[in-house]
Parts: sequence; structure tokens; C-alpha cells
Amino acid sequence: SADLVETVVSLCERRGFVYPCGEIYGGTREAWDYGPLGVEMKENVKREWWRTVVQRRDDVVGIDSSVILPREVWQASGHVAALHDPLVECTSCHKRFRADQLVEEYAARTGLNVTEDRLGVVSCPNCGVRGQYTEPRAFTMMVKTHLGPVDSEEGMQYLRPETAQGIFVNFLNVLTTSRRRPPFGIGQIGKSFRNEITPGNFVFRTREFEQMEMAFFVEPGTDEKWHQYWIDERLRWYTDLGVNPANLRLHDHPREKLSHYSKRTVDIEYRFGFGGQEWAELEGIANRGDFDLTTHTNNSGVDLSYFEQSTNSRYRPFVIEPAVSVGRPMMAFLLDAYREDEAPNAKGGVDKRVVLSLDRRLAPVKAAVLPLSRNPDLTPKAREVAASLRQYWNVDFDDAGAIGRRYRRQDEIGTPFCVTVDFDSVYDHAVTVRERDSMAQARVSMDKLQGYLAAQLIG
Ligand code: ATP
Repeated sequence: SADLVETVVSLCERRGFVYPCGEIYGGTREAWDYGPLGVEMKENVKREWWRTVVQRRDDVVGIDSSVILPREVWQASGHVAALHDPLVECTSCHKRFRADQLVEEYAARTGLNVTEDRLGVVSCPNCGVRGQYTEPRAFTMMVKTHLGPVDSEEGMQYLRPETAQGIFVNFLNVLTTSRRRPPFGIGQIGKSFRNEITPGNFVFRTREFEQMEMAFFVEPGTDEKWHQYWIDERLRWYTDLGVNPANLRLHDHPREKLSHYSKRTVDIEYRFGFGGQEWAELEGIANRGDFDLTTHTNNSGVDLSYFEQSTNSRYRPFVIEPAVSVGRPMMAFLLDAYREDEAPNAKGGVDKRVVLSLDRRLAPVKAAVLPLSRNPDLTPKAREVAASLRQYWNVDFDDAGAIGRRYRRQDEIGTPFCVTVDFDSVYDHAVTVRERDSMAQARVSMDKLQGYLAAQLIG
């Protein structure tokens, strides 16, 4: 619900996952900076994607291409042309439409004719909300900059609005140097930029964002099968990392609303629960056909096709492309992990506790070492334990305040294990390990501690 979003956003700001960008200058709620916990979690999200989609597979390799590509790339890809029409954007679901098409569609649907300046009566074909449009504007979604000593038109360059084009223009390079053949994929993680008219909903929609994209090249005719394969794989990634399947659903784009390059697109939607809009796109999985390799072949004069020796035939592979930002899954993981329950307190009663039940692979801090109290015997011992675990994981040390409060602080940021060093530790060389969700405690000898945690922090 909208309340949950608000609660989680405020937790993120309070605990240093995410800060409003430029806050001391008044800030804006349109761009966000990741703090100490946020950057750890974001790296974990990216690592999990990279491992699943690239490293653990024999048929996918990675690249890291430039943010600024030759201008011809964006002409060929259709981004420059497709993004220059006068558009209006529905401020509720953020879909963009050409004003004339909206009016035409409205007339076809209702039999009523309206003029383009009366869009106030037209409901959105995507979300159904009535009359919530921005002014029609000829704008490009591409963010521009200038290279070279003068700000001339000649030096104007686009920042990429997607990472995928860097993959397509390197198709032949990767094909020849990595000795792969279809079906095979190229994955990439990097920043993209879009001049969104209405950024918002926390990190859901920003003008600068990181994307995780993979183009999987297949023989035409096998594309539909591979498309389904990647839809299933990508759904599994979310549920495997702990997202409740009831909060995920698929949305097949109707044919008439497909992007210029797409043969079929299926979105994975998550129940973000923003005010006014329950479900929203988490990730898009497109069957781009041979649009990209064909257009780059025609525009560059370099034949981006594949020669299959066994059949002595040449074909232009079709592309299946799962594409997602880093921020949207991160937000979904946080919303899904948020719980409120009760924990026993020192007075024999119970306290409310907030816990982020994040998958251990995603948790920003893997373990916190806590001396039972701040004390000349316990504190140095606990610091030693923390230092040794830090060789392997991001580990916190905290000796300020009552032990119960320190547990609460760790629960709230999703730390899977708290390691308590108490007065017995000095004699028995053992510590108490408390697990976040069950709050179950185990006594573990110090020389076995690293192995004990490693066994439970796989990944
Ligand atoms: P939307 O309809 O939400 O604007 P889109 O359909 O334009 O998204 P794609 O072009 O398919 O998005 O981009 C692929 C993925 O990149 C999206 O599923 C989303 O995860 C992410 N993404 C796109 N635009 C943004 C943005 N402005 N901020 C954050 N993430 C974005």
C-alpha cells in the first residue's frame, strides 16, 4: 500500500540506504543518492543479477560499453526519430502518447470527437485515469551533452537511454573474440539517462539510473521458445531472492502498444502499491526480432549476421532482451522484506520490532558483532572478532546502548546474524549467534565462527 511505501522510504532515509540528491541545497525528490547501506545492497543486487544471468552460464558473456556512443547509433536505433514527436504523458501511469493518436483512439472508442486541446475528458488507454496529461511537447527523451572545446551542434552527443545499443554494436566483436555462437547472450550493467518529464515514486523513475540488460541472440524460429524461457528465468530470479509470488505478475503488451523495435514484450510487474497505481513495471522482457542487427547493418554497412558452418547458411539472429533497472528490484526487495512483529524485551514483556527479512545474499550487513556491554574485557575481544569476519563480509560493530536496542537496529536493516560477545566468552572462547528472523540463538566456538556463518551466507 501507499503507507508501506512511505514507511519503507522513510526507513531508507533514516538508516542511510538512500538520501535525496543535493539535500543541503533544498534537495529534490526526483533524484536520489545511495548511502552506506544502500550502496552495499545495490552492489548485492547487481552481483546476484550478474552471477545468475552472466557468470553461472556457459552461454552468456559480459561487456561494459561507453555511455556516449557515436550519434549514428541513436539514429539507427530509432531513438532520435521515435522520441521527437509532440507527446503528452499520463501523469498517473507515465505512459506517453501522441496527442493526435489519443484523440483518434478516444473517438474510435466512444464515438465522440474532441480536439487535441481538450484532452481533459480523455481517459488514459493504459491505466484508465481520466484527463491527467501533461501539455503536448516536442521533446526528446535523450539527455544531451557536448564534447570538445566549444558547445557547438557538432559536438553534441547523447547519453545512452538504454545499455542495449552498446551490446548490438559490439555483436561482431564479441562473436569473434569470445568464440560464442547462437544461442548466446551478452549482458551489461551500467548507467542510462532519460529526460523523464515526470520522475518520481522514489527510485522507481529517475532521470539517471542503472540498468541490467542482456541481449540473447537466437536463430529466427526459435525466438518464441527462448522468449518464454527468459520470462520464466527472470521470474524465478525474484522468487528465488525471496519476493512473494503473489506480488508478481506478468503483463503482455497488446500488439498496438509495442515499441517500434519489439515483436512481443512481456513485463514483470510488482505490486509496488503507489498511491493510485497498485501494479507497476519492474522489468521488461522483449523479443526485439532482428530489428537492431538489421538497422545497424543497414546504417553501418557492416553485415551483422552469423554464418553457421554446419548448415552452410547465414542468418541474422533475433534478440530476446530482459531489461531492468537496479533501483526497481531493490525497492521491490525492500518492500517485500518489511515486517513488523514482536520481540521479547529485558523486562519479560514484548517490544514491537521492525525487521527487514531480506534474503541473506541481499542484506547490506551480513553480521554485527556486539559486546554484551561496553567493557574493557569485552570490547577489545569483540573488535577482534569483527576484524576477522570483515576479511569475508561487510560486518558492523556496535557497543552503544542496551543489547536489545542494538538487536533492533540490526533487525531494521536486515542484518542476518548478530554475534554477541559476553562475559563467558573470555573463558569459553565462544560467542552467541542470533538469527534475525527466528531470533534463535546458538553458542558457537570462536574458531568455528567463520565456518558457521559461511555455511549460512552462501552466495
Ligand atoms: P516505463 O514504462 O516504466 O517508463 P519503459 O517501458 O520505458 O518503462 P524500458 O525502456 O522497457 O522501460 O526499460 C527497461 C527497464 O528499465 C524498465 O523495466 C525499468 O526497470 C527500467 N527503467 C526504464 N526507465 C527508467 C527510469 N526512468 N528510472 C528507473 N528505471 C527505469
